[in-house]
Amino acid sequence: MRLLIKNGTIISAESEYVADILIEGEKITAIGTGLGNGADEVIDASGKYVFPGGVDEHVHYGSFGSLTFETTNAAVVGGTTTIVDFAPQPKGLSIKESVKKHNETLAEGIAMADYSFHGMVMDPTEDLIEEILTLPEAGISTLKFFMAYKGSPFMVEDDIIFKALQVAKKAGVTIMVHAENGEIVDILQKQLIAEGKTDPIYHAASRPPLVEAEATARAIYLAELANSPLFVVHVTCKESMELVRDTYMRGLPVYGETCTHYLTLTEDNLAKPNFEGAKYVCSPPIRPQEHLDALWEALSRGWLLAVGSDHCANEGGFENDKKKGIDDFTKIPNGCPGVQDRLALLWTYGVETEKITPQKFVDIFATTPAKVCGLFPRKGQIAVGSDADIVIFDPNWKGTITVKDSYHGSDYNSFEGMDQIGRAEKVFLRGRLTAENGKFVGEKGQGKYIKMKPFGLCYDNFKE
Ligand SMILES: [Zn+2]
Repeated sequence: MRLLIKNGTIISAESEYVADILIEGEKITAIGTGLGNGADEVIDASGKYVFPGGVDEHVHYGSFGSLTFETTNAAVVGGTTTIVDFAPQPKGLSIKESVKKHNETLAEGIAMADYSFHGMVMDPTEDLIEEILTLPEAGISTLKFFMAYKGSPFMVEDDIIFKALQVAKKAGVTIMVHAENGEIVDILQKQLIAEGKTDPIYHAASRPPLVEAEATARAIYLAELANSPLFVVHVTCKESMELVRDTYMRGLPVYGETCTHYLTLTEDNLAKPNFEGAKYVCSPPIRPQEHLDALWEALSRGWLLAVGSDHCANEGGFENDKKKGIDDFTKIPNGCPGVQDRLALLWTYGVETEKITPQKFVDIFATTPAKVCGLFPRKGQIAVGSDADIVIFDPNWKGTITVKDSYHGSDYNSFEGMDQIGRAEKVFLRGRLTAENGKFVGEKGQGKYIKMKPFGLCYDNFKE
């Protein structure tokens, strides 16, 4: 099967040009003008933008009580063709066993986007440190540690993170941290609840920016001590962003991402009446406007590298999950579904408002996430030899984001009612049309497990 996408305006992380793209089977085989003799199918993309399918480096399917890969069609409908999921580590299992189990029980034969896995440490033992050296053999090149969630199996002490950093660089594994000071969050939560402050808005008060900044600074110092690269996931506040920025400026391999909701939703949402604020509870919390402005600037200037969705659609949604915390904000399950809306939000609130260029959009949406996760050049770009993961984007479409159009399976959308400019008109996954005009037209199980290569972007120019 030879498919030709003609006359589209191709946007890459660096450039923009009108050309044809020839796809043979699952790969892009030519880019140029006047291509297509003998194509089986021709699609005219005149007046449309054509860019690589998104790579969302931060999603949760089947962890933290979230819905599983049954709802990964939400990703492709929203123009994201590759997702990188966090595989939880059940007690007693190694990281490799955990990833294998997570894949076999939840993803394989079900996923509708291509996918990879980050390891997610929940049972930190000495064996874990040894195992880091062999993770790349199994296609796992990133490993996440939580500095938050005291009292849960997630929270890891500094000594383990430090030892992991020392070992990881030998194997090219990128250490990722969720940076919040779990001890302080625990104290603030208890104090607020004791004062009768139980509403969702106090979720923000229990996790102020400095709680995040303190842990970010600590993680950065641990990485510097270990002389190892570090990737800080979901940077949400000005203070943490500046720590990442200033460390990188000092010449150290410290990088960070932010997420869609930290760019587009302010803390005011947590104060919505009738417990509606619970729909916006995620950790770290969404912040006041000054932080949103700082994060956009950081993306534009390259101080933060990528934007994930931190997609986490609670199985019971608002009615049956979020409402568990109606008398106590600390019992509200964390997470917001966002994988489907990442493209729309970055385009509408980033490109259309001229906070970022179309090239920067492609960079933070697809190219750099693929590089961070060791999936580049197969994923994240339109180039000869890469997978034919392609979005044909209609920049003139106008609409409104609503749960009614969402495939994520939850009963609400955190971005409900927000304007949307432009839409993924056609989405191809390895050469196959898989979504069209907001509807899923692919097949369950079409997503492939893509193994990561070690020494991803955080190791660029890194020397021991
Ligand atoms: Zn997350």
